[in-house]
Amino acid sequence: MRICRFADDRVGLVRGDLVHDVTAALDALGPYSYPLPRHDPMVAALPDLMATMERLADETEGRPWAGLDLLPPLANPGKIVAAPVNYLKHLEEARGDEGIHFKNQVEVIERVGCFLKATSSMIGAGKAVRIRFPERRNDHELELVAVIGRTADRVSAKDALDHVAAYTIGLDMTVRGPEERSMRKSIDTYSVLGPWMVTADEFGDPSDVDIELTVNGEMRQKANTRDLIFGVADLIEWTSSYYTLHPGDVIFTGTPQGVGPVNGGDVIRATIDRIGTLTVAVEQES
Ligand code: MN
Repeated sequence: MRICRFADDRVGLVRGDLVHDVTAALDALGPYSYPLPRHDPMVAALPDLMATMERLADETEGRPWAGLDLLPPLANPGKIVAAPVNYLKHLEEARGDEGIHFKNQVEVIERVGCFLKATSSMIGAGKAVRIRFPERRNDHELELVAVIGRTADRVSAKDALDHVAAYTIGLDMTVRGPEERSMRKSIDTYSVLGPWMVTADEFGDPSDVDIELTVNGEMRQKANTRDLIFGVADLIEWTSSYYTLHPGDVIFTGTPQGVGPVNGGDVIRATIDRIGTLTVAVEQES
């Protein structure tokens, strides 16, 4: 099942080129009172909502998703976890390019662990990445993203994938410089998710997936997730040994080699096998 959000917080099922509005399925959620849950209620309830979503999609006329104002496929992740330098060839390019490493020692992921991005940085494909510091280098990072479906507290890698609800395409946009990753990668619009999420049952094995990214039609990144140093299951085991992962938490699994700068006017197309293509424009913030 392919789930998107669009326009004024509508929820849709994607079937082929069409989106069927299934927002009414969310009537089963809530009501909520303060304090609000720390997880994403739609993702937490997904196993119970899926049958209703399918029925509503059968009953509703679809409309082409091309041209819709696509939002991130989930609204309320409690946290965005991200893996740095999780492909060997990206580690080599980062160490060899001062425009990336800024005289910081680029440490291996085994040593530095994962970082967090602000949830306020999220956008969907319907919005543009807005470059806030155009005098600095702003890079695209294409990443497979896992969406947690079940509470994960110290789970083993063997059981980890049972805790994934869905997968989506992520752009971990980055301004290069000496500051902490969590600041440089949390600028508003610097976490792009979409165009939809594909439920884990339909997506299948995350450990052998082709991923590629172009800027204005020029190939920049082309890789396969089999070259991840820590795969999805390893990342869940490792991060959940430090903090509980809640339904809706998203994990950016790291970017392969080929990262490079973008500027206002560019168009990024990120494609992941079995998900689709996320197309997003880049604008310079005025
Ligand atoms: Mn990244």
